[in-house]
Amino acid sequence: MAGIRSPIAVVVGHVDVGKTLLLDKIRGTAVAYREPGMITQHIGMSFVPWGAVERFAGPLVDRLRLRGRIWIPGFLFIDTPGHAAFSNLRKRGGSVADVAVLVVDITSGLEEQGLESLNLIRARGVPFVIAANKLDRIYGWQSEENRPFLFAVERQEWHAVAQLEEQIGRLIDQLSRLGIEADRYDRVRDFATQVPIVPTSAVTGEGVADLLLVLAGVSQRFVSKERLTVRDGPARGVVMEVKEERGLGTVADVIIYDGVLRRGDTVVTAGLQGPITAKVKMLIVPKPLDEMRDPEDRYKYVDEVRAAVGVRIVGEGLEGVVPGAPIVAVEGSLEEAVKAVGEEIAAVKIESDKEGVVAKADTFGTLESMVLFLRQSNIPVRRADVGPPSHKDVVEAALSRRRDPAYGAILAFNVRVPPEVEKEAQSSGVKIVRGEILYKVVDEYLRWANELKA
Ligand code: GDP
Ligand code: MG
Repeated sequence: MAGIRSPIAVVVGHVDVGKTLLLDKIRGTAVAYREPGMITQHIGMSFVPWGAVERFAGPLVDRLRLRGRIWIPGFLFIDTPGHAAFSNLRKRGGSVADVAVLVVDITSGLEEQGLESLNLIRARGVPFVIAANKLDRIYGWQSEENRPFLFAVERQEWHAVAQLEEQIGRLIDQLSRLGIEADRYDRVRDFATQVPIVPTSAVTGEGVADLLLVLAGVSQRFVSKERLTVRDGPARGVVMEVKEERGLGTVADVIIYDGVLRRGDTVVTAGLQGPITAKVKMLIVPKPLDEMRDPEDRYKYVDEVRAAVGVRIVGEGLEGVVPGAPIVAVEGSLEEAVKAVGEEIAAVKIESDKEGVVAKADTFGTLESMVLFLRQSNIPVRRADVGPPSHKDVVEAALSRRRDPAYGAILAFNVRVPPEVEKEAQSSGVKIVRGEILYKVVDEYLRWANELKA
């Protein structure tokens, strides 16, 4: 049964801009306006059916002439608590996310991690919209629960509108310096070249209707139907998180973007040493809200799940799986699946004898986004791998240093540096730059390299 699935919409941005509250608001709205049984939850995802959006946003749907023109079944929203979560939504040649919502605080514009999210959105080619959140903080703004932004802005005093325009203008300038053309969504003339900015408030719900409609428009225009078509074949997905659960052992939270995953399936995924084969013992999803009896009774076990879905896998052999790793169910030959996963992982790692720096990161996703960013910054990479810096990395960096002192460096993103490795690096003249914000790590490295040359 092939069909069109909902686009996977990832919500990204700096900490505290309101990503989670915005999603809570959207979910709450969907629950209030749903048809019975229509809202489903997933691990790390929530489904918002189009029917609920249309009822909630009715007058705006008509104003924007969207009635009857939306063919996506809804949205599958993914919250990203930190930037690693977005990095890990990787798949070969792009992102598992079909569209993105970049949330910024309207009163402060783009901040560090917002910028970092933006870099990754662009590097992975994900169509996106900007939610300029905390609209209710605009001085003099008169709020009304859940009112669409277009209607709200018509009812404001001139000075509140002037404040709003000033903040949006600043955001537009900031984006333009990054080479991005953007405008308030109702002023966008060409969605192919301009990014729409939708003012929202996660507290009052204002602008949430606009955000959902603009996101639907962007999804339909820029995500191909082919990409949204699910097959009946074996599951393909990506590992978001791996953890120990009391009574269950190692579990992996994964997002399946194509195919069907069944209890009993053999899956191939990957760890530090390469491909890992595991057996799916149980599949766990959250209970629908109306079946939930008490907070302890939140999950249910299912026999199969169909893309797109977020699911928790209990399995044998999942220890050592690294987030950001692909996961595929084996249908035909196990060797073929192992080979395919091995090739995909090899595409993320770099092992060369060319000169360049050593890049280390905590997951396959963060490593991939790091390598993408280093390439954009014209910094050659000799070796890139997951895990903390090791003896081998110091040796490689020291070799690179002989050819060019500026390449005698290890860039460590989101990983700790073991003290003995730090010591060894110091005595080999190898510089280790460590940090949690990618472009800061790169800036610090470049400053060091420039000082060497001076
Ligand atoms: P996240 O880190 O991006 O997920 O941010 P949260 O959703 O956790 O929100 C961070 C803080 O900002 C919380 O205290 C929220 O109540 C507040 N907040 C979020 N959205 C809004 C908004 O639209 N207006 C106002 N006034 N506060 C907001
Ligand atoms: Mg949050």
